[in-house]
Amino acid sequence: MDGNMTRYIFVTGGVCSSLGKGISVASLGLLLEGHGYKISVIKMDPYLNVDPGTMSPFQHGEVYVTEDGAETDLDLGYYERFTNAVLTRKNSVSTGQIYFTVIQRERRGDYLGRTVQVIPHITNEIKKRIYDIAAQDSLDFVLVEIGGTVGDIESIPFLETIRQIRQELGKNRVMNVHLTLVPMIGVAGELKTKPTQHSVKELMELGILPDILLCRTGSALSDELKRKIALFCNVSERNVIAAEDIHTSIYDIPSMLHKNGYDDIVLEHFNLSPGPLKLPKWDKFIKTLHNPKNKVTIAVVGKYISLQDSYRSIYEALVHGAAANEADMEIRRFDSEDIENMKKPNFKSLFADVDGILVPGGFGSRGIEGKVATINYARTEKVPFFGICLGLHCAVIEYARNLCGLKGAQTKEIDPNAEHPVISYLVDQDIVEKGGTMRLGAYRCNFTEGSRIKEIYGRSHAMERHRHRLEFTLTYKEIFEENGMVFGGVNPEHNLVETIELPGHPWFLGTQFHPEFKSKPTEPHPLFRDFIRAAVEYRKKRR
Ligand code: GLN
Repeated sequence: MDGNMTRYIFVTGGVCSSLGKGISVASLGLLLEGHGYKISVIKMDPYLNVDPGTMSPFQHGEVYVTEDGAETDLDLGYYERFTNAVLTRKNSVSTGQIYFTVIQRERRGDYLGRTVQVIPHITNEIKKRIYDIAAQDSLDFVLVEIGGTVGDIESIPFLETIRQIRQELGKNRVMNVHLTLVPMIGVAGELKTKPTQHSVKELMELGILPDILLCRTGSALSDELKRKIALFCNVSERNVIAAEDIHTSIYDIPSMLHKNGYDDIVLEHFNLSPGPLKLPKWDKFIKTLHNPKNKVTIAVVGKYISLQDSYRSIYEALVHGAAANEADMEIRRFDSEDIENMKKPNFKSLFADVDGILVPGGFGSRGIEGKVATINYARTEKVPFFGICLGLHCAVIEYARNLCGLKGAQTKEIDPNAEHPVISYLVDQDIVEKGGTMRLGAYRCNFTEGSRIKEIYGRSHAMERHRHRLEFTLTYKEIFEENGMVFGGVNPEHNLVETIELPGHPWFLGTQFHPEFKSKPTEPHPLFRDFIRAAVEYRKKRR
């Protein structure tokens, strides 16, 4: 048992995936904070990968990196953007991790000859991880999102664990929320409750009775429909809550859920009086988001463009930056491979009404030359440019080839035998030992006096998150400086290049770190805020 009074809210999903479970959990976290409670959030993923670090962004969306360097599910990004919870590797749990721990323990002989089984050994390990979070700080609530859909074979140990926790701690400390779909059958024009009934039935077979049914629907639920769902699914009518489709912005979801009574009903379950909801910073952001005075168009030129979730944090950080500039933003997504395949890309027409170009991070060789060509256009035509991680690498390559006279400049990621490896592995620079190849999580970056980046941050240093193997090759630093590039941000431990900038350009900045992971609607990241400011200005000058 856990040793304190933390309450637990378990959120499961039914019918199908992509119902917005992660955002609904983040929204509930925000609402509970608005009632004055301290919360944390855990994501439990039923897959066997130890973490999503090895999964393709095409398959799984972006890999979100926490301050302590864990490669996690992108839902953690939503939790951090919506709430004040400080998340670490402990907040992201997968079946792979659980089995890995239990099997290691078995090999050490810790189970003293006993048979090691899913119940209790796997379930106890899951339980321990949930209780450990609650034990960290004096939290009022721990929200636990169970990934996947009820009915999947893989999620059964997690569901069994939450059944046991409810049994152990009782209703006053535990609540089960089930997110389902109430689809509209087009021709009949009717909302259908049967999928929800089936999904709740599956949950009940596992011994879990939902306290709240959060029903994803195209429109509001009628009282009659709520009555029907309540009757068949064994919940009170009041606890059938509509999670309506929102077509404006994901940031409008919390207020929709609040309007439909979600937070009040959750608090009632725990015998807590709701009181007023106070979210002044959030409300201010929503107001500016919906009252833009400017317009701006940003091009994102990357490799994983076809899937929205692959650059999720980048897109969100751009939204925060746009709101901070009262700008209505359009994001245009360009596949750098398409640009690469064009014989002579006509950038002027391709980017005709683009006010800023962002080249995000990525891995592998595909599309690199398309990015380099795009950056050349942004540099020479003085279009605001922001390069992140691989985006910085490409900017360095472009500068080396065209301004430093290093024709054979390349990243070692593509050509290990490059004539001028201006970007190379940490191991090559004796910075990490072989084996420990990735630089992950937050590192300090010091800003040099007089640099643009220092001015933008308004501080002498920052802690920013990393996820990469390659770096600017320090032996080339002087040649770049002689040719006008400024290295405004430096890592103090190893003198590594953290940021690049070009003084004569309206806005040309690259970062080795990923600032997008730390941007929030209520605290837009200074670099995204200033990039959009420059793009808005560029647009005004151009017209
Ligand atoms: N592939 C590059 C590296 O490993 C860049 C990584 C990134 O953009 N996140 O260094």
